[in-house]
Amino acid sequence: MAGALTSESVTAEQLPRRESWPQAGQGPRGGDSIDFDRLIRRACELGAIEAKPIEPRSVVTAPWVRLKCQFGCPHYNTRHCCPPHTPTYEEFRKVLDCYTQALLIHSQGMDVSPTRIVVELEIEVFLSGYHKALSLGAGPCWLCKECCPDRCVHPLKARPAMEACGIDVYSTVRANGYSIEVVRNRSQVPNRYGLLLID
Ligand code: SF4
Repeated sequence: MAGALTSESVTAEQLPRRESWPQAGQGPRGGDSIDFDRLIRRACELGAIEAKPIEPRSVVTAPWVRLKCQFGCPHYNTRHCCPPHTPTYEEFRKVLDCYTQALLIHSQGMDVSPTRIVVELEIEVFLSGYHKALSLGAGPCWLCKECCPDRCVHPLKARPAMEACGIDVYSTVRANGYSIEVVRNRSQVPNRYGLLLID
């Protein structure tokens, strides 16, 4: 049905007016099913072009992912949110298995940060009662010009990328019906993704 909001996928054009989340102590408790339609609308308000609920078990982890960070990314070991400071794929598989709900958000281009979107959602979902809410973004952390060597100075906002935790983003995205391709030059608009784990 044209214009209908469903938990399958919602685009920015389908956005209704902004709604507020329940205040702390008034919302659901962890383990309850979340209102994905509302969550998707918020993701689009924050800049996502679409978002959908996915099964945490559909998130693909693989041993080769860290090697793509270690050999090929100039930011390896330069940020607290980058490997080797992040969980291995084996460790993060165990983390994924602690969750029963997840939201995959899709943004396009480099002007919109999927990390910023999922962090904002994580904070709102946490405050509404889902105490295990945890978000992962895309790419290295750019909150500081240079990463503080001693400790992260923005722990409320800084989150690792999915790939930094051993997630095969390409396989995960495709398995859930979204598209992603290798970007070959600067004229191509990248599809970028963020993940919010909820329970
Ligand atoms: S917020 Fe700053 S200190 Fe923290 S990981 Fe990002 S760049 Fe490093």
